Amino acid sequence: MATIDRPVRVLIAGGGVAALELLLALRVYASPDVEITLLTANADFAPRAMTVAEPFERGGAARYEWSQIADDQRAGLVLDRLDAVDATERIAFTHDGRRIHYDVLALATGARRVEPFAGALTFGTRADVGRDLRALVADVVVREPASVAFALPSPSSWPLPLYELALLMAGELREGCCAAAVRIVTPEVHALELFGPAAHDAIMPMLEALDIELIADAQPRELVVGGLRLADGQVIAADHVVTLAEVVARPVPGLPADRAGFIPVDLHGRVVGQTTVYAAGEVTSFPLRQGGLATQQADAVAQAIATDVGSPAPPAPFEPVLRGRLLTNGAPLYLQSRPSGQSLASTRALWSPPGKVAGRFLAPYLATARPPRIGDSALAERVPAIPDAERGECDAVTLALTLADAETRCGNTSRALQARDAAHALDPETDRHVAMADVTGPA
Ligand SMILES: Cc1cc2nc3c(=O)[nH]c(=O)nc-3n(C[C@H](O)[C@H](O)[C@H](O)COP(=O)(O)OP(=O)(O)OC[C@H]3O[C@@H](n4cnc5c(N)ncnc54)[C@H](O)[C@@H]3O)c2cc1C
Repeated sequence: MATIDRPVRVLIAGGGVAALELLLALRVYASPDVEITLLTANADFAPRAMTVAEPFERGGAARYEWSQIADDQRAGLVLDRLDAVDATERIAFTHDGRRIHYDVLALATGARRVEPFAGALTFGTRADVGRDLRALVADVVVREPASVAFALPSPSSWPLPLYELALLMAGELREGCCAAAVRIVTPEVHALELFGPAAHDAIMPMLEALDIELIADAQPRELVVGGLRLADGQVIAADHVVTLAEVVARPVPGLPADRAGFIPVDLHGRVVGQTTVYAAGEVTSFPLRQGGLATQQADAVAQAIATDVGSPAPPAPFEPVLRGRLLTNGAPLYLQSRPSGQSLASTRALWSPPGKVAGRFLAPYLATARPPRIGDSALAERVPAIPDAERGECDAVTLALTLADAETRCGNTSRALQARDAAHALDPETDRHVAMADVTGPA
């Protein structure tokens, strides 16, 4: 990158889990004299992970003030919205008319969430959805016998919240002696497919114990009278359909975008074609959008920036490890998998602290009332990592191509192409050394 005068000014744009992990990780990896400013549209940091528990009184979603976090981390805070970037002059333009000069920009502005099926109760688009879920449960109880379908929109949708909602609702209905039919309708071939066979083996007895029917390899398309229509024309009977929001890009004027508007990045989170702009989390083209992965991307970005601004340590690339703490009707189930083949499921925590968003620095930070000294308390893995020699070519590329295959199988051509482009952005050599997904299937 171009020579930068000291002190280096790093601007983080965004206010979610990727932004927080970026801030914490930069304070660990980069020299202490780096000046960090956080530009965020929201005064509070409010992770979504626990929102599924709230309607069932099984825990609440906490909020944290960005002003407090920024003070802790010696960062400047600007409450405003990034509108556009001049990457040549290194200026960020904001909604309120500010021009913020930076040396390095790290984008973590996330994505938009939209309803995939008109008429379904959608989690992830608005804060008051829990109230509507309570009304839905009340209706199911009086309407007995009633049926509820929990529909996963696509193979790239993060599936855990849907399973959590189904398990928590079925458990509550069971406790109230309500005999409703509860179904999970999913394009996955097996339950919790991304987490591999251990997750399937662990979840199936839980679904069976609560009489939850799993309808797998099914592509939900729309709500029709009496239920949910699948791509093959079959209608699954349902009085109510609950689903998860789909993620839609929020492009940033002045920066490149893929065909769906997401920002293409390489394995270090560097925006393709840029030397001083990085991105992490849902704003990027990586096709699986989840908080834990967003923090892992943020860690890779922080290390790359640290190297750019003088750290002698070589930056580690993004190597995705999927971690999920699944809320169930009983003890939570910890799931962990790697694209190279690892599949673990346990009721004992597989990482510590056992945060629902398993960020290396974010989980310890949020687990304590008083923030620990960052760097002393990174997330501890309780399962040994797979040695490099036993890994495939590149886990991030493998995962992106796996999703491209799954989207193709479901006839979602544009999503399949987006996932394939993301793999190419991560590693331009992809076409040569990995058998490509055939994404020219039916529209
Ligand atoms: C119901 C539900 C449950 C989930 N549960 C889990 C879970 O258990 N574990 C897990 O790991 N993941 C979970 N996820 C996924 C996780 O919430 C997201 O993947 C994660 O929040 C993405 O982080 P992000 O920082 O990229 O984006 P976001 O969290 O969306 O953050 C983006 C931030 O940037 C701000 N912003 C947007 N535009 C601008 C702008 N122009 N300028 C400045 N700031 C801007 C926004 O206000 C927001 O604060 C769940 C998601 C849902 C919907």
